[in-house]
Amino acid sequence: MKIAVFGGTFNPLHVGHAMLADTIIRELGYDKVLFVPTFQPPHKDASKIISAQHRLKMIEDFCASEGSGHFELETCEVDRGGISYTSDTLEYLTKKYEGKLSKKLAFVMGDEVAAEFDKWRNPQKVSALADLIIIHRYPDVKAMESSLYANKPSGDYKGDFSVKFDLKNFKYPCIYVESPMLPVSSTDIRRRISEGKSFRYLVPPAVFDYIIENNLYD
Ligand code: ATP
Repeated sequence: MKIAVFGGTFNPLHVGHAMLADTIIRELGYDKVLFVPTFQPPHKDASKIISAQHRLKMIEDFCASEGSGHFELETCEVDRGGISYTSDTLEYLTKKYEGKLSKKLAFVMGDEVAAEFDKWRNPQKVSALADLIIIHRYPDVKAMESSLYANKPSGDYKGDFSVKFDLKNFKYPCIYVESPMLPVSSTDIRRRISEGKSFRYLVPPAVFDYIIENNLYD
């Protein structure tokens, strides 16, 4: 079985995430995409993130209604608590799926995330444990976001959300995938909801229903 690990805050999960996961299944031939919501991302201010329980439920509802069995929620980072490091997650998942993998795990990220990869904890270990799949995302997503709702680095994280990915100088082996550029981000969706603007078709139907039922991001 070929499994791709897709980590994110998913605050909330949106159609850009769904499109990326579908690309992994259809175009790269993976059998499963594991959605791994972070508990506390090392690089985002936790006070802006709604509870893990809400994020888990939105992903669970999405995976039950979309993906024809190829999408699955993986709760290990939330179960572990504390700051979520990808190297710990990949170590755990490699053991969990021992004997079931036809090749090592893949780890999926957008290119704005890849631009900061070198500043992560243990990037060498992440690259050793997983094939890195980098998806080209739209170039100025972060520029579209107003500072009020944008992510701010937390703790001692020294990254910069506006850095551009440079494939030629990326030091680790990777698979680079061009995917349609959906101009969607969780930040923009949170802003739209709090301003009473339309957001219905920016998120999968199950996520829309959950946000409405629970008055999230108002
Ligand atoms: P936020 O706006 O709160 O930072 P986000 O929309 O960037 O959130 P995350 O949950 O932080 O979403 O992202 C998880 C992963 O999904 C990252 O690898 C990111 O590159 C990717 N991703 C996010 N939005 C898109 C999109 N529109 N198209 C493709 N990939 C995306």
